[in-house]
Amino acid sequence: MKIKQIHVHVLKTSLDEPFYFSQGWVNHRSAVLVEIETDEGITGWGECLCHGLQPPEIAAAFIQHAFAPMLIDRDPFDSDVLWEEMYNKSRPYGQGGAAVNAISGVDIALWDIKGKSLGLPVSKLLGGNYRTKVMPYATGFYRTLNGKYPEDGIDEALRHKSNGLKAMKLKIGFGVEEDLAFIRAVREAIGPDVRLMADANGAYNAALARRLMYETREQKLYFLEELLAPEDQEGYLAIRHLTETYIASGENLFGKRGYRTWIAQGALDILQPDLCSSGGFTECVKIATLAQAWNTMIIPHVWGSGVGLAASLQFIAALPPAPLSLNPEEPMLEYDQSSHPFRAALIQHAITMKDGMVDIPQRPGIGVEIDRDVIATYGISM
Ligand code: CA
Repeated sequence: MKIKQIHVHVLKTSLDEPFYFSQGWVNHRSAVLVEIETDEGITGWGECLCHGLQPPEIAAAFIQHAFAPMLIDRDPFDSDVLWEEMYNKSRPYGQGGAAVNAISGVDIALWDIKGKSLGLPVSKLLGGNYRTKVMPYATGFYRTLNGKYPEDGIDEALRHKSNGLKAMKLKIGFGVEEDLAFIRAVREAIGPDVRLMADANGAYNAALARRLMYETREQKLYFLEELLAPEDQEGYLAIRHLTETYIASGENLFGKRGYRTWIAQGALDILQPDLCSSGGFTECVKIATLAQAWNTMIIPHVWGSGVGLAASLQFIAALPPAPLSLNPEEPMLEYDQSSHPFRAALIQHAITMKDGMVDIPQRPGIGVEIDRDVIATYGISM
């Protein structure tokens, strides 16, 4: 089989109500989708992560100008060879960020092709399903111009709870005092049985993080995410053992080389590689293998359109618990509940929650059909 054509679709739409988190305002929802056509009529789809503050055009340009020319006439089943080639040739101007986001989207599309060609879900090609469903946790709790806090956060938490979600993650990083009041108010409103996490998006240093960790012990947070800047490995090593709350990070680390010392030095309790950012299936499976060798848990970061969500479910299916046991600590699905005009429509609403769990599709490839009308509606020309 040979790759014949690579199309990059950049989707972008402004939000009716922009929202903010600890690092800035999100005015648009964007997606970078990769469509790869083969000479056998099989088409694969992938997605490159597009952070809230990230212009989607950058990852798209990497694919158009740097990677597509390397891929034409190559065999999608050489996905590992192609991954290393894309990474190596872009090393002087890549190694992370939008360059690896771009490789990730290409790699996901190649695995979608491999799965479709064999009539198997990607999870089977990765070694099989450790699970066929996963518990989602609600991501959201962004803030708006006229919002009231903690009131709006409490309303949102109760809405997620009444929708059947058993876990949710707050946005924090707005100042330690503000965060403490917010976390306490939400915990009191939802009660002790909902699994509660919080994400500071790198807003603090180790001293501020220490206060937040000690002063939220009563609220029993399951994990605290990106308390520190994503590169601050020494800071994470300093705070990691301060309290019983798990320390999580990783959405801004890239590839096995990016994760290597974090895993080997035990800087984190929970690793959060994003399939659409940290390297696609090829590389994220290697990150998972390193993590398993150090008995470190993975709960992937997920924040994108339905294509990224579907692909992430295949990755989650194949993640070994670390360690294995009769009742192991299971990964969760980060399930974005924030405003997104086309996330679900793009994959024809193929992924839904039932009884507080999300089924992992067992259809070939990443298991979704793309609605091209959605691409026509939100696509922009490059
Ligand atoms: Ca995050």
